[in-house]
Amino acid sequence: MSTLLELLKDGRFHSGQALGESLGVSRSAIWKQLQLLEAELGLVIHKVRGRGYQLASPITLLSEAEIGQHSSSVKAWDVRIFDSIDSTNAEALRSIEQGGGSPILVLAERQTAGRGRRGRKWVSPFAENIYYSLVLRIDGGMRQLEGLSLVVGLAVMHTLREHGIPGAGLKWPNDVLVGRKKVAGILLELVGDPADVCHVVLGVGINVNMQSAEEVDQEWTSVRLESGKTVDRNQLVARLSEVLVSYLERHKRNGFSAIQEEWEQGHLWQGRAVSLIAGVNKVDGVVLGIDRQGALRLSVEGEERVYSGGELSLRLRDGS
Ligand code: ATP
Repeated sequence: MSTLLELLKDGRFHSGQALGESLGVSRSAIWKQLQLLEAELGLVIHKVRGRGYQLASPITLLSEAEIGQHSSSVKAWDVRIFDSIDSTNAEALRSIEQGGGSPILVLAERQTAGRGRRGRKWVSPFAENIYYSLVLRIDGGMRQLEGLSLVVGLAVMHTLREHGIPGAGLKWPNDVLVGRKKVAGILLELVGDPADVCHVVLGVGINVNMQSAEEVDQEWTSVRLESGKTVDRNQLVARLSEVLVSYLERHKRNGFSAIQEEWEQGHLWQGRAVSLIAGVNKVDGVVLGIDRQGALRLSVEGEERVYSGGELSLRLRDGS
């Protein structure tokens, strides 16, 4: 982390002279670094003659020590925190190639190429949200992959409900919403042979303290917008990890079928009239729920049909 940012993160005014003295550089060098912080990290820094420089709002940065204090699971993992990375999932995939032992947790203050499904973009400003990718090794068990992304969604939903968003709910297969607004997204990526040994990256993006994001092209919200409070991201990462580990253990022990009912209870679109979109094809139906593997059950023209696969998207139909 830039030492200058460490000095500014309290959100107070700091004079150019004091900053220069702390870092052993000239005032003009400080000015240049401030401009870099603004340009590269998108930070807003107030510059007031006679008072100095101040971050528009104080920030708390991610800290492995802080997270570890609240999560014994994370203490046992290989945690890698980046100021800026293309995508935490991409970095997690690279760590698998390099043969790192799992679990590996990749976190970043921002992503320059954060991704959703099918190459869509995940907007990821600096120090506001959680960009979280956990690498797990899965030994010979297709069963362990069944419904896994839904299990991650449930863990995220549960964590958000604990953090002042009682209305957080799920949208099949991989979103967490509040009403119609998206607060978190999940992206699982797999490397290796699912029938033998493979690694899975559990990618989670949660909007935490973000209050504006013009680039997001659908309705969205954040924990702060919903709860009215600034949230400590270190504590949220720790809690998410604990809840996730507990769901993953249940899933491993009893399979997805043991979690199916709980997932349906959290599903905001149960009984809703929807369109299921697969590329250029569209099917209209009513959501019945999910099956024991996490596939979507739809009533289509009075008949039950089951759909699964990563390329499917649900949309509410008008009037639903
Ligand atoms: P699907 O129903 O297929 O999941 P989706 O539009 O939700 O569709 P995802 O791949 O899950 O697609 O997520 C990527 C989309 O999420 C982007 O295209 C954008 O519309 C939206 N998005 C991007 N960044 C954010 C963010 N930080 N918060 C909320 N939504 C975002």
